[in-house]
Order: sequence, then structure tokens, then C-alpha cells
Amino acid sequence: MKRKNVVILGSTGSIGINTLKVVKRYREKFNVYGLTAYNNHTLLEKQIKEFNPKYVAATERAAQYLRKRINTRKTRILNVDGDLEGMVSQRGVDVVVIGMRGSAALEPFLAAARAGKTIAPANKEALVVAGDILMKAARQNGATIVPVDSEQSAIFQCLEGNRREDLKRVYLTASGGTLRDVPKAKFNKLSVKQMLKHPTWKMGDKITIDSATLMNKGFEVLEAQALFNLDIKDIEVLIHPQSIIHSMIEYKDGSIMAQLGVTDMRIPIQYALTYPERLDVGLKQIDFCKLAKLTFEKPDMKKFPSLGLCMYVGRKGGTLPSVLNAADEVAVEAYLNGKLKFTKIYDVVERIVRKHKIIKKPTLKQIIAADDWARSETRKVLDR
Ligand code: MG
Repeated sequence: MKRKNVVILGSTGSIGINTLKVVKRYREKFNVYGLTAYNNHTLLEKQIKEFNPKYVAATERAAQYLRKRINTRKTRILNVDGDLEGMVSQRGVDVVVIGMRGSAALEPFLAAARAGKTIAPANKEALVVAGDILMKAARQNGATIVPVDSEQSAIFQCLEGNRREDLKRVYLTASGGTLRDVPKAKFNKLSVKQMLKHPTWKMGDKITIDSATLMNKGFEVLEAQALFNLDIKDIEVLIHPQSIIHSMIEYKDGSIMAQLGVTDMRIPIQYALTYPERLDVGLKQIDFCKLAKLTFEKPDMKKFPSLGLCMYVGRKGGTLPSVLNAADEVAVEAYLNGKLKFTKIYDVVERIVRKHKIIKKPTLKQIIAADDWARSETRKVLDR
């Protein structure tokens, strides 16, 4: 059988690194066609030498570095800020893994959807801000979207073999993040470093902070809304500290399907790459007797107001999710740089969300304009 040609957007981040582990395990099934990265060019160089991609897209600075070190006849160097859409649309590409973070993923995601590729998104932002546009483009062009985010992968898997119209409710599980057992009065006393210690998942800094505020879970509500065409009222967030159940679906007849597994991103990544086939992932399985119990609790909406804000934004729709996402990105960055107190992240984001005049059924241009507006408004608030 022909090997699948894989493009990895964001190959030096945690999703990219795990995707390459899966590829390495199944070299006979996958070929690395393209890699892209923004920062870590030393790791990118290593990845190029190991996987010989046909294309690599990097920043100008990284490109200068790479030109001296790699064989540019075997691997062509492209510009990460302009050439991604062309690269993912190439005829040879089978699967596009979107591991890069931020709304920069929007345009390559759309290009891959228009080109009818299999898309494995781990990136939330694109689906949060432009879910309708992306899903419509995928439907119209026969693209298959197999999500990599563990909760969305669980929902996707629980839907397999069932009828979408029989779905009653989605239980979106959440570990609860770093602050689950920390009283709110102590939030601003923790250092950034302490805040970055997530109990169950190892992830990037921005997403770890978003997990602490539960903003990340709120984004996942919006992501699920877009991916599976759900009503916000049919999505229930459930705190599940062990992170063993990655989400569940309740059907009309009262049956509940859950997807369980160890907390390792290689499982949903590999599933997206091999779908609908399943292969040995080479991880130690859960020992249920050792685990003994799975627990659940309702999220504390007062302690974590971001979750309720996301649900409000999901009900309103239009350009508002784009504003939410942009304001959060700027506010979290300010927090990570020591310029904003932790609890102020929410205050700032909420203020920008309330201020925005929503455009219903926006075009991509209007979504990007709302993003720009929110970033500059947030910076204004931060500068005061
Ligand atoms: Mg997740």
C-alpha cells in the first residue's frame, strides 16, 4: 500500500513531536512530506535530517540557519508566513496535522479543507473562531476532519457507528487544571512557574494557563460545537481529575458511550493518522485495579468564570469567539510576562468581549478584523 504523505504544521511543539514518534513507529505507513516551525530551529534541523521531508517552512532567520546545514536539493525551504496554504494543498499531501497554536492556523486549515485533505487538528483557535467556515469548506470539498484534541477525539470515536441524530448530550471531561484544589484567594500568590505545572497533561505554556482558568475547556466547548454541530446547551462539562475518560456521549435511549485511555497524546494522534484503522501504539495500558476509582464533580463556575463566558460567547456566535480568543491570547501573554495578575486575565477578556459589536455570519475577513480589533483593545486596557 502507498504510504500516506503527512504534513505537520508546528513540528517542534508537543503535538508535532508526538506525531513524529507515531510516524517513526510506522515508517512503512507514513512519509513525512512537510514540516513547519516558528522557533526551535535546532530541533527542526534534527527532524529534517531524520525524516527527509520534501518541504520545510520556517521563519527567515531559521531558513538562513538551515540553508547552511541541510541538503536543500532534497528539502525545499519555504516561508512559514506565506507558503503554508500552498504546501498543504499540494496534490501529494494526504494528511495535515495542525499542531501549531494560535489563529495563524486558520488559513492553512481552510486551504487543506478546500483541497479535500484529511485534517487532524490539535489547534483549537481555528475551529473556535471560524468553525462554521472551516466545517462548510470541509463538507463541500470532501475533506475528512479527525480531531486530535483528546476530548474531541473521544467524541469523534463515540460517534463512530452511531447516528448523529440520536445524540442527546455530550459530557466533555476536564482534569480541572492546576487550580482545581487551590482556593481562589490564593490564585494570585502562585508564581507563573507553579501555575505551569499541570497535573495530568504536559502541554505548552499558553494552553496550561488556559487549563488553569478553564478557558481551555471553554474553548473546547466551542470547538465541539463547531466540529459536531452541537447546541451549547447539550454540552456538559464534567471535572474528572484522573483524565482517564476523555469524553462521553449520551444517546436518546439512555446509553452512554465513553472513550478511555492513558493520558498520552500519541493515542488520538495515531488514531487520526490511521483512521479508520487502529494499530498498536506501544503504551502501557491502564491497570483498572490499581486505578481503583474514577471521580467526577461539577465545575465551580464562580471560581472559574471563563467557562461561563465561553458558553455565553458560543450562544452569541458570529465574530464574538474571534474576539474572545484574541483577547485571551494577549492577556495570557501579559500574564506569562509578569505584566498582569492571574485573576485579571478573566477581567480583561470579559471586558473586551462585552465591548464588541457582534457581526452575525461573518466572512473570514470580518473574523480576522474582529481579531485585530480585540488585540488592540486588549493592549489598550493593559497599557492603562
Ligand atoms: Mg483537550
